[in-house]
Amino acid sequence: MNAPSLIKGWCPGALRPMESGDGLLVRLRITGGSLSAQKAQIIANAALLHGNGLIDLSGRANLQLRGVGASQWPHLIADLSRHGLIDQDAEAEAVRNVMASPLAGLDPSALLDIRPVVKALEARLVSDSALHALPGKFGFLVDDGGRFGVFGQSADIGFEAIKSNDEILFAIRLGSSETVALIAPDQVADSAAALAKTFIKTSNKSDKSLKRIKDLIFLIGIKALLHEAGLIRLITLPPKLATLPPFGFHPLDQTGFVGIGAPFGRWSANNLTALADIAAKDGMGELRLTPWRAILVPGLDAKAAQSLIEKAGPEFITQASDPRLAISACPGMPACRNASVRTHEDALAFAALPSLSRPSGIRLHVSGCEKGCANPTATTAVLVGKNGLYDLVVNGKASDPPRLFGLDKVAAEAALKDLFKGVSR
Ligand code: SF4
Repeated sequence: MNAPSLIKGWCPGALRPMESGDGLLVRLRITGGSLSAQKAQIIANAALLHGNGLIDLSGRANLQLRGVGASQWPHLIADLSRHGLIDQDAEAEAVRNVMASPLAGLDPSALLDIRPVVKALEARLVSDSALHALPGKFGFLVDDGGRFGVFGQSADIGFEAIKSNDEILFAIRLGSSETVALIAPDQVADSAAALAKTFIKTSNKSDKSLKRIKDLIFLIGIKALLHEAGLIRLITLPPKLATLPPFGFHPLDQTGFVGIGAPFGRWSANNLTALADIAAKDGMGELRLTPWRAILVPGLDAKAAQSLIEKAGPEFITQASDPRLAISACPGMPACRNASVRTHEDALAFAALPSLSRPSGIRLHVSGCEKGCANPTATTAVLVGKNGLYDLVVNGKASDPPRLFGLDKVAAEAALKDLFKGVSR
């Protein structure tokens, strides 16, 4: 295999990685977020052998190997291919952008086991080359209706399991629309394809750039869009409130699972290997990846769960109230060339601020520059790196006009303290 083809602005994958400040970033899309302990060990070993040993769990439950050298990349792909972790081509991996309820098949509160639905959807996306024209960030979601669902996560086309008159159906939600279409579980792949083709066809005809489903809804309206895709059974269904991230121990049937996170989703290969070892020894030999940057270890009894939490120690997040969950940070220096600040390091120091250590609804984002790529939404406070210092944006995005300029770490901490004092939930 030759050196990777890099396209600027492309959503990275494994076959089309992204160049970053610390080398190539290689993103792996794990079907349904379900990863055997053995494959987790293979990925961790590959990250050590071919990269810098750091693995990020992304907000879409993907794994990203960092610091891969261009000359190492073909060897990494060959290693991962041998274990079925690589798609047939870059187009197939790019379109396979599906997030699913992480406890699929294990959560007794779920309405159905969505694993076959997710597989069928992915197979359709990969095999139907007409769908490969979808924009890179166009994403799908499948929710099983259980306690640990992914409803509320951002997606262009969401399939949410619901019960209607004793029948299990899927409500198709486009973006955050309240008008949804109802279909049977075996119609998910066809409906996804019909909607995606409507998006592509209208996009090709339009003189406007359509990147996400909300652009198309804005253009032709939700009902016209659903009808165009042959979906006629429509109801109004407000979105459910987002689930609390499942950190710590949660009992299920006979056993339960532990949700554990590394700050900002950054795992070392050694820690991922250690977690996979515990999953193999004490659990059911599987890890589940989540969009909340928690990795779930299912099949643990209460004693094994307690032992894992104790072994993890304070370096890891095992409670939903952990103040580090109120903070997001982009990779910053040295991982990104655009950054002049050490975002992760600084963000961890800000986690000690009293307003973040209690449930206040306050959120902080630490961005290496004004692009704000790790947090595109408005946030209570955004520290934006510039020339080694920070500007402070209040209730906005990294690209918005700052309220304060040129703060060093001490001044930034004081400004945050001051700001948070006046912010109530
Ligand atoms: S926000 Fe800027 S510094 Fe941070 S990852 Fe994006 S481009 Fe890099």
